[in-house]
Amino acid sequence: SDESDWNVEGFEDVDGDTGGVAMPVVAIVGRPNVGKSSLVNRILGRREAVVEDVPGVTRDRVSYTANWAGRGFILQDTGGWEPDAKGMAQSIARQAEHAMRTADAVVLVVDGVVGATATDEAVARVLRRSKTPVLLAANKIDDERMEAEAASLWSLGLGEPRPVSATHGRGSGDLLDAILEALPETPREREATGGPRRVALVGKPNVGKSSLMNKLTGGERAVVDNVAGTTVDPIDELVELGGRTWQFVDTAGLRKRVNTASGHEYYASLRTRSAIEAAEVVVLLIDASEPITEQDQRVLSMVIDAGRALVIAFNKWDLVDEDRRYTLDKEIDRELSRVPWARRVNISAKTGRSVQKLVPALDEALASWDKRITTGQLNNWLKEIIAATPPPLRGGRQPRVMFATQAATRPPTFVFFTTGFLEAGYRRFLERKLREQFNFDGSPVRVNVRVRD
Ligand code: GDP
Ligand code: GDP
Repeated sequence: SDESDWNVEGFEDVDGDTGGVAMPVVAIVGRPNVGKSSLVNRILGRREAVVEDVPGVTRDRVSYTANWAGRGFILQDTGGWEPDAKGMAQSIARQAEHAMRTADAVVLVVDGVVGATATDEAVARVLRRSKTPVLLAANKIDDERMEAEAASLWSLGLGEPRPVSATHGRGSGDLLDAILEALPETPREREATGGPRRVALVGKPNVGKSSLMNKLTGGERAVVDNVAGTTVDPIDELVELGGRTWQFVDTAGLRKRVNTASGHEYYASLRTRSAIEAAEVVVLLIDASEPITEQDQRVLSMVIDAGRALVIAFNKWDLVDEDRRYTLDKEIDRELSRVPWARRVNISAKTGRSVQKLVPALDEALASWDKRITTGQLNNWLKEIIAATPPPLRGGRQPRVMFATQAATRPPTFVFFTTGFLEAGYRRFLERKLREQFNFDGSPVRVNVRVRD
C-alpha cells in the first residue's frame, strides 16, 4: 500500500503529546491487608493515604497515573471487597482474572511475614495461567533479616518473590524496575470484548447521577455479580436500554453515599477518573437549572483527556423556564466551546423526560469513536483539502502534507506526515474538515503531525 513508502521511524514527532498512544496498565491484586494501598501510595510517591478507613473508598478499583524512570503507566488498585472468608477468595480470583485479561502486567501482593495463605494460593492458581506477565511482591519485608521468609513464596509458582516494604520503601525501586521490564513495548489494544458497551455516568455532586441511575434501572438496583462470558465487576451494573444491555461502570460510587468529611472531594475526583477510564462512552450530567461551573469543566476535561466518547445530559430540565433556557444557551456557547461535537440531550431524571433519548446519542458517539477511515478515502479527501487550502507558509517555506493515515480508533487518531511544521490553527482546520467529511459527532478526534527529518 501507499503507507509502505513511509518509514514512520524517519519522522520526528513534533507534537510532544502521546496522541492516541495508550499507557500500559499495571494491576495490583491481592487479599485485603497485605498492603496493596500502601504499595500504591509508595509507587505514587505519596504519603497521604488512600489507606484511610472509609467504607467504600479503598475497597473498589481505582486507577492512577504513575511514572517510574521516565516511563508513564496506569496503576490500578483493585482493592478487595468484603472480608467474609468464603466470598473473598472468589472475588479476588475474579479480580485476578479480570486483571489478566485487561492489564499489561499484574502484581500479586502477598504478606511476606504471614506467608502464603489458602486464598493467596487460590489466586496464584488463577494467575499461573496468565499470558500477561505476573510479578509476585512479598510485602512487609521491613528489614533484611526477614528476606528469608519471602523466599518461601517461591512455592506459589509465580517465579521470584520480590521482597518489598511498602511502608519503609525497601525494595520498591527494584520492584518497579522489574514491572517496567515485564511490560510489553506497546500496551495491548483495549478493544471492546463484544460484550455490553461500557458507560460512565459522571458529574458534580447533586447533579442527579443516582436519580438517573434509578430511573434507568426502574428502581431495581441489581448489582451484577457474575455474567457468563463478560468481565463485569461487582461495582458495575447491567441496564437494559433501547432493547440492549449496557454496562454502567463503577456505579458503586453512586450507590454509596459517603458523607462529606474532608478529603472526599479528592476521592470523588479519583472515582470519577476511574469511572471514565473504565468506560467507552461517558454521560456527563450538567445541572441545567444552575450556571455551568468550574467543577463541570474539570469533569469535562477528564473526559477529553481520557479520549472517551461523550454525551452531555442537561438534567433537571423540569426546572428550566424560558429565561433560564436563554441564559443557558449563552453559557453553552461560552463554556462548552471545546466540545462542539458532543451531542446534548435535555432530560429530567426526576420525571423521566427524554431519558430514552440518551440511547441514540450513545450509539452515535460510540459509532464515531469506533470509526475507521480507510487510507484511500482519507488521502483522496486530503488531496482536495490541501489543493483548496494549502498550509500557511512558515519561515518562507511551504510545508507539504504528504500523506495521512488513521493510526488508531477509540478515539480516532490521525497522523499527518509533512515536510514541515503545521501550525495549531491549520491542524484545527484539518480536524474540522475531517469531522465535516466523515462525521465524528460524539467523539474526540486526535490529530498528530509527523515531520520528516
Ligand atoms: P490493602 O488492604 O491490601 O490495601 O492493605 P493496606 O495498604 O491497607 O495495609 C494493611 C495494613 O498493613 C496497614 O495497617 C498498613 O500500615 C500495613 N502495611 C502495609 N505495608 C506494610 C509494610 O511494608 N510493612 C509493615 N510492617 N506494615 C505494612
Ligand atoms: P448525585 O449526587 O449526582 O447522585 O445526585 P442525586 O441523584 O442524589 O440528586 C441530587 C438532588 O437533585 C436530589 O434531591 C434529586 O431529587 C434532585 N434531582 C435529580 N434529578 C432531578 C431532576 O431531573 N429534576 C429535579 N427537579 N430534581 C432532580
